[in-house]
Amino acid sequence: MNQNKLFQQTRLRLALWYALVMALILSFCGFGIYRAIAHAHWMTLDRELEFVAGTLHDSIELKLQQPGKLEPVIQELLPNICVVDKSCIEEQLSSKRHILSPINQGNYYVRFFDDSGRLIAVAGTYPKGLSQIFNKELWQTLKDSKGHLYHQITFILHTQKNRDWGYIQVGRSLADFNSYLVAVKLTLGLGLPIIMVVVGVASWWLAGLAMQPIYRSYRQIHQFTADAAHELRSPLAATQATVESALLMPQLEEIEAREILQTLQRQNQRLTTLVTDLLLLTRLDRQSVPMQRDLCCLDDIVNDLIEEFAALAIAESVTLTSSVRGLTPLDVIGNEDQLYRLFSNLIINAIQYTPQTGKVTVCLDRGDNYAVIQVQDTGIGIPQPDLTRIFDRFYRVNSDRSRSTGGSGLGLAIAQAIVQAHHGSLDVQSELDQGSTFTVKLPFPVRPLNYSRRGMTQALSNS
Ligand code: ADP
Repeated sequence: MNQNKLFQQTRLRLALWYALVMALILSFCGFGIYRAIAHAHWMTLDRELEFVAGTLHDSIELKLQQPGKLEPVIQELLPNICVVDKSCIEEQLSSKRHILSPINQGNYYVRFFDDSGRLIAVAGTYPKGLSQIFNKELWQTLKDSKGHLYHQITFILHTQKNRDWGYIQVGRSLADFNSYLVAVKLTLGLGLPIIMVVVGVASWWLAGLAMQPIYRSYRQIHQFTADAAHELRSPLAATQATVESALLMPQLEEIEAREILQTLQRQNQRLTTLVTDLLLLTRLDRQSVPMQRDLCCLDDIVNDLIEEFAALAIAESVTLTSSVRGLTPLDVIGNEDQLYRLFSNLIINAIQYTPQTGKVTVCLDRGDNYAVIQVQDTGIGIPQPDLTRIFDRFYRVNSDRSRSTGGSGLGLAIAQAIVQAHHGSLDVQSELDQGSTFTVKLPFPVRPLNYSRRGMTQALSNS
């Protein structure tokens, strides 16, 4: 329960960190997007203004004759032109097509200044509160008396005889530009919290996903510790009981003492085997110390084991044989002791789980890039639902059945760990009451095997 709380707290903390990092990233992205949109919009606005001012400048300049004097023909070209100190020319836009009809649609205004910077005329949607002080800077952003912003461009005008006439300024209100940016800001500002809620939910889910393997591994370790303690307790309890009953006896005959010592030795042996197996599994798990690797001949290992287990097979009335397909011996690179352990575990299991008169065969074959070793038996078989679990530590198909064989449920777990350490695979096929086949595949060495076994071993230990 406490651990569950710890996992929940860790998940929450992880989710919060995820969400925080995502919030920072998204805020930066949002800010970047806003700046990019504003910049692109500003550039479009500049280009538009430059185009309108350029068109106006080119069409007007052709008709200018005297410096500082607006020809009547120009006054006709511009809508709503208002000559300072004179009357404004009121015209209906619909009645005539002006070259600058866009200036009325796009909130543009035009101002003419003479050479000395005196305002001569204004046209278009001219803002009344705009300062009339002349500034000949090319680009300017101005504010009127009400605080509205305007952007304008200034060009020099020349007469037909190329004398300085004065200046033309074309500008426009930034009201629509600003309201567009406000809309973008609002969209990003409102969108971000909504996205953050989604990110929060996703973070919680992702944190759960990230915690799953840790939680699973924690549960496995927990289970492993409980199972190991349970397995260790049985021989310890038996030892304790034997010693206690011996102590209760007033006198011990030599024969009785010998029996007691034999029982203690058996239990001690069981404990030693269990601890050795656990240590081997831990070493295989960690793989921190690189294992000693040599060129190993699988044919030799299997032959040795067949010889070694012949007596056990006879005792169990099981026929133990080997079958070798192919003429060349199967050489792999690995730890010889571990390979002996791997195949002896499989062969012992096959013998132990095969009833009398059954058969156990060890087959050696050559695959494309790997050696194939199969341990086949005609034994009791393994139920389908247990096939995926028999490689788990301390797992026994039927604990009573296996306990009678003295097994701790670590045999196949060790076999699989050894196969994995050798970059191979271990599979099982089994049918209840028909028998089982355990197939080990071990990769052949990548280097060509054209030098002596001793040379290869030397090379491996040097590498
Ligand atoms: P144990 O030490 O109990 O034999 P193992 O890890 O070697 O543990 O095997 C796990 C379980 O798989 C065993 O309890 C046994 O029920 C089953 N098993 C393993 N090999 C065979 C086999 N050749 N035939 C039938 N059952 C097997």
